[in-house]
Amino acid sequence: MAFDRFGRKIHYLRISLTDHCNLRCVYCMPEDMTFRPNPELMQDDEVLQLAGLFAELGFDKIRLTGGEPTVRAHIVDIVAGIAALPGIHTVTMTTNGVLLAKLAGPLAMAGLKRANISLDTLDPEKFKRLTRWGKLEDVWNGIQAAEAAGLTPVKLNAVIVRGYNESDVASLARLTLDNPWQVRFIEMMPFAGATDLQTGGVVRAAEIQERIEQAFGPLEVANDGQLDGEARVFHIPGGRGDLGFISSVSAPFCASCTRARLTADGVLRTCLLREHELDLLTPLRAGASLDDLRALILQAVWDKPWGHGLAEGEIPMNRVMSEIGG
Ligand code: SAM
Ligand code: SF4
Repeated sequence: MAFDRFGRKIHYLRISLTDHCNLRCVYCMPEDMTFRPNPELMQDDEVLQLAGLFAELGFDKIRLTGGEPTVRAHIVDIVAGIAALPGIHTVTMTTNGVLLAKLAGPLAMAGLKRANISLDTLDPEKFKRLTRWGKLEDVWNGIQAAEAAGLTPVKLNAVIVRGYNESDVASLARLTLDNPWQVRFIEMMPFAGATDLQTGGVVRAAEIQERIEQAFGPLEVANDGQLDGEARVFHIPGGRGDLGFISSVSAPFCASCTRARLTADGVLRTCLLREHELDLLTPLRAGASLDDLRALILQAVWDKPWGHGLAEGEIPMNRVMSEIGG
């Protein structure tokens, strides 16, 4: 088992399979983003070797993310390989959904349990503006395919950005009236080279909730008031689905964090919003023993920071979200 020095059991690993992406969301990366060359990324066998080490240390839940995980070659085989690792109970994915129409079925067959799909607006023009060139229809087809393939409950992630989609929150929330989905509203976070957009465009969860309550009346607390992952959950009275609020900026959930992240270039990061990292891929390639690698992981987990420092103005400068794995 891997514990940190504050007694938190760390058992949830998010693996970024690639920093590459087929979209360029304005809050995530610049339009002219340069990606890492493939040899710098973990190769398929390295992903499985490192995931296997974490599984031996008590990690039982793995989320595949990126960049965009579905653009990674052999994604279905990678999912199958991870799902087959002893000790791994749940493999999930965070995806922009663009390629899910064709991949949801094979991924579910390979052992994927659920998908969180990003959807920031239901307006095709705004969608294009937010993602710089995405087609809303592709994502919508992907959501239907995910549901049909049993990757449920479907969770939709919406980052709310002032001047882009803050007026869309009620229409997104409305989706939960007829669908058993969880629509999660995420406060935008600042990363390396934080843009004016990332710092000035944050729409706080309280405002998002207020906008939704103006449209539907007071929300009911769901999940007995417990966090669902990092989300505070509610529902619209009579709705089939839930609403989640992820307020990393205004009300951090660090105390209950059980996560670590493995970046696409094989670096362990124990806090999304702190720069501290431990390279695992270089020692793996240099022939380090599995015992040595396990010891490195346990030490890094032990040293996991208590929480992030956004409130004190500390912004992680060494990587952007797509390079860490959101
Ligand atoms: N490409 C996939 C996707 O978009 O779902 C997975 C990777 S993406 C980095 C993971 C999540 O991070 C997405 O839900 C995305 O909306 C969110 N995200 C990206 N940049 C963000 C930022 N600056 N602040 C908050 N969330 C962000
Ligand atoms: Fe790509 Fe996801 Fe970042 Fe959008 S949020 S640019 S889809 S990695």
